[in-house]
Amino acid sequence: MPTKKAPNKIIRGIVEEVVMEYGNIKSIFNLNNIVNKRLKRDGYKCSYSVLKREVFKIKNIETRVLYRKGKISNTDKVCPVCNHQMIEIKNKTLDKSDNIILFFRCQTCGFRKERWSTVPRIYLFKYKP
Ligand SMILES: [Zn+2]
Repeated sequence: MPTKKAPNKIIRGIVEEVVMEYGNIKSIFNLNNIVNKRLKRDGYKCSYSVLKREVFKIKNIETRVLYRKGKISNTDKVCPVCNHQMIEIKNKTLDKSDNIILFFRCQTCGFRKERWSTVPRIYLFKYKP
C-alpha cells in the first residue's frame, strides 16, 4: 500500500495519543519517528514541518523549549557569508559584573548572527490533561 499524506486531524490525533502514552517526549525528532511509525500502519505519512505546525495546535500538549548552555565554538564566530571572523557584540549586565554576548557581527560584510542561533534547542512535549 503506498503511503499518502495524512490529514491534519489524523496527525493531531496520533500525536496526542503518543504524547499521552509516553507522558513526555524529548525532541521533535523522537516524536516524528514514533508518530510516523503509527501513521504508516494506516498507509499515511507526515513531514517534519507539518508535524511541527500541527503539534503546537494541540491544547493538551504543552511544549517547552530547552536551551542548552554551551560554549561558543570557533566555527560560530566565522561569517557564513564571507568566511571572515565575526566580532562579538556584548552588553553589560545591570550590575556590570558580566558581559553578555548579544550577537556576532562580521566586520567585512556586515552579516549579523543572533546569539541564540548558536545555542542548540530541544523541544519537550508534555501531556497536559
Ligand atoms: Zn561576512
